[in-house]
Amino acid sequence: MGQIVKLDDVRTASLLPNYVAGQWVTTAQRFDNIDPTTGEVIGSVCEAGRGEVDAAVMAARKALSGPWGQMKAADRVAMLHAIADRITARFADFVAAEVRDTGMPLHFADHVNVPRGAANFKVFADLFANVPTETFPMDTPDGGTALNYGLRVPRGVIAVISPWNLPLLLTTWKLGPALACGNTVVLKPSEETPSSANLLAEVMAEVGVPDGVFNVIHGHGADAAGQWLTEHPEVDGITFTGETSTGEAIMRAAAKGVRPVSFEMGGKNSAVVFADADIDAAVAGLARSCFQNTGQVCLGTERVYVERAVFDEVVARLAAVARALKPGRPGEDGADFGPLNSRTHQEKVLGYYRIARDEGAAVVTGGGVPAMPDHLKGGWWIEPTVWTGLGDDARVVNEEIFGPCCHIAPFDSIDEVIGRVNATRYGLAASVWTSNLSTAHRMGAALEVGICWVNSWFLRDLRTAFGGAKQSGIGREGGVHSLEFYTELRNVCVRL
Ligand code: NAD
Repeated sequence: MGQIVKLDDVRTASLLPNYVAGQWVTTAQRFDNIDPTTGEVIGSVCEAGRGEVDAAVMAARKALSGPWGQMKAADRVAMLHAIADRITARFADFVAAEVRDTGMPLHFADHVNVPRGAANFKVFADLFANVPTETFPMDTPDGGTALNYGLRVPRGVIAVISPWNLPLLLTTWKLGPALACGNTVVLKPSEETPSSANLLAEVMAEVGVPDGVFNVIHGHGADAAGQWLTEHPEVDGITFTGETSTGEAIMRAAAKGVRPVSFEMGGKNSAVVFADADIDAAVAGLARSCFQNTGQVCLGTERVYVERAVFDEVVARLAAVARALKPGRPGEDGADFGPLNSRTHQEKVLGYYRIARDEGAAVVTGGGVPAMPDHLKGGWWIEPTVWTGLGDDARVVNEEIFGPCCHIAPFDSIDEVIGRVNATRYGLAASVWTSNLSTAHRMGAALEVGICWVNSWFLRDLRTAFGGAKQSGIGREGGVHSLEFYTELRNVCVRL
């Protein structure tokens, strides 16, 4: 195990330690935390080795039978509320950490990411306290009676592996239900966005969450902390958000010991605009779903299908919105969008911009890197981009890019567009724009996705099921559905 330190001693050095069994642990192996708006190093992160991963998992195992395991349900609910309240009390710290690590616009951190971070604890605490289980009275073969009832018990040690695009929102989306159900957690945040995980650890300590219930290990994925965590035999379940190819690797790790997984993965989401839609609303919705957070939203749109009668109008209007968006540092005057999250990701997105041109796309707007002022030239900037003119077999119409870009194609009939939207290995989300109720319901039933929005996008009710169809996910989280993963449902049969 690494060295145990006091948080104040490392904070001044912008060093992010691991959090294991209620203690801050530094290691000799470090990696840089980089500001994506400038490309400058803003801190250093202690990479967990096998020893720290093992210590974190074993601390979580031990904590299951400690004060946390004995805690009354009402006290646990109160503790989750206290966590939420503390996140709200330290709102500015969380916002600062998130915008520094991701470069996301201030209003997005302020209005979406951090408030959801707090809500994820409150909502699940209240929800699970009120979920009944089933009972079945039965006759026995010898003429007696018996009573069956369900008991939900915690699954055990949960490994949470999260991505970089909405770090706090996506991490707490899993932490909230995991803790509400009485599990203990080892979190491995993305190596690109490590800061808010440590703030969460501070919050846990501040409100008195027992040591070992929540642990943070930092590091990379393959052949590193992520893989060692998912392979650890004392982990009882793995919940993961990230790329589909990473999900495949984690599934292989989970196969040893036959551990259950809950996966939220990649997508190639479509929006469909019918000619009868409110075109103002559709264009505004498309602008959000294609470009918000610089396209780094798993639910974002990268394929747009527009009924031929309004195709030219929608293309022109969406491109005009894209052209008017202003890049800038979070909170800077008039900045509409931030950079991509890393140099690697910028290279990937720019690679797809080149592929689109090579495939013969008409670049309606964007396609490159915007001119930035001197102090931001080192960041990972990218232009919002709209293409037309490609067939459905083009790579940029099939592969997840995860950038601020979309391809727009015309369609002529509802049957045709349903077939084209469904012709993908992914099935995360879709949005449909129409004023015809029958069309709306028909699309909702026909599209092979986990969530289908009609005349809206990213409108989320945390009580509803969330997850992806096909290769976009395994299982559903959200509302009572999270219980399926975060608890074991035990049947007790009592011969009366
Ligand atoms: P990623 O798969 O590269 O990384 C996600 C996490 O997995 C990171 O913490 C990483 O270190 C870890 N990891 C990588 N390899 C690993 C391995 N072999 N074993 C264990 N852990 C490993 O994803 P990303 O680039 O951080 O995030 C972007 C992706 O996430 C996109 O595909 C996006 O669609 C998806 N995403 C999906 C949802 C959803 O709800 N479906 C939400 C957000 C993001």
